[in-house]
Amino acid sequence: MSTRRGWQFFMHPGPTNIPQRVLQAMARPAVDFTGAGFVALRDACLQRLQRILKTERAAVVAYAASGNGAWEASIANLFSPGDRVLVCESGYFSRNWAATATAFGLEAESLPTPERATVDVRALGERLSRDAGHAIKAVMLVHNETSTGIRHPVAEARAAIDAAGHPALFLVDTISSLASYDFRMDEWKVDLVVGGAQKGLMLPPGMSFTAANEKALAAAQGAGNPRRYFDWRNMMKDGRQAAFVGTAPMHFFYGLEAALDLLEAEGLENVFARHRRLAQATRACVDAWAAGGGPEVFPLERAFASDSLTAVLMPQGHDADRVRTIAEARYGVALGRGLAGLQGRVFRIGHMGDLNEPMLLGALAAIELALRDAGVPFGRGGLEAAQAELVPGPDDLR
Ligand code: PLP
Repeated sequence: MSTRRGWQFFMHPGPTNIPQRVLQAMARPAVDFTGAGFVALRDACLQRLQRILKTERAAVVAYAASGNGAWEASIANLFSPGDRVLVCESGYFSRNWAATATAFGLEAESLPTPERATVDVRALGERLSRDAGHAIKAVMLVHNETSTGIRHPVAEARAAIDAAGHPALFLVDTISSLASYDFRMDEWKVDLVVGGAQKGLMLPPGMSFTAANEKALAAAQGAGNPRRYFDWRNMMKDGRQAAFVGTAPMHFFYGLEAALDLLEAEGLENVFARHRRLAQATRACVDAWAAGGGPEVFPLERAFASDSLTAVLMPQGHDADRVRTIAEARYGVALGRGLAGLQGRVFRIGHMGDLNEPMLLGALAAIELALRDAGVPFGRGGLEAAQAELVPGPDDLR
């Protein structure tokens, strides 16, 4: 049996559902990307992204590239071959950012993190304190590790860097937290942020960003890495993005404008609260499954379980990919798979971006059907537990 009836539920942790308004905003003819109209739109969008990152100082630069492009921009612009960076190990995405650094000839040292745990900020501080000669040029941290569904402590990592009195740059990947989580770039003294379009910003994949403060921009002046397409010197003027290397991805900006309108109309803090509510409902459901010997929430520390996706760990001897395949083929619900070493052990439920309560409840119900069909044990009452978390806020009752 394969269902193609009704809505197909796309519950991946990126790309995410693209709102009709965003799709419609992008469905338009090309324009002159050097013309005043487009330049004004571009500049306004970059400023509005600053507000999402809560920065007044950092310059946002957009790229016609998926998140990997912004990773590459961060490494290419800030460093020289042989530089040492300390990468807080969080999973598949921290490892791939580190791999980008090594591809440019950097020494990427890993700060290990046990599986299912958050980055150890005490170990971070200790490692930096031992680096008396300041050989470590940067600390790199993924805010929300999309492969494990674990949010990592940015403010606490900043405090550890400060307590060690270390001058390293602080680089944070916000690709799966941007516009889903509170992020305070200036307050947390993050020197460079990497962001992407296809998650909380609800755009198609293919656009990414960096935001660099004055310390990062100064580091870029002396950096010796080869670069061209991502070279800030080819894109920035007077501390702001003034051009692209090549044709500007204008349709992304039309989509971005529409997405920012939606986020601002809802209110950023309401957007964050909504992500929290849907995440709590998901976790309550998975906890009920776990109570019956079924799948469980992957992160061990509940306070650091991600609000934008939930990674679900299968009980021993059961295959997450079989559940995913059944969920999609029989019930029309697409789930994210486990990446690298987590393949088969984990499936991931994306609950960020353009999503509402019935979509989440429908997906959770369909996952229960898939667990049943796959012969995976699970405790009952998951949906009631999820519903109990979905209490309306005062604004919703009006
Ligand atoms: N960083 C994180 C946290 C991600 O989740 C992803 C993609 O899912 C990336 C980086 C890479 O971005 P992209 O796949 O858009 O190149």
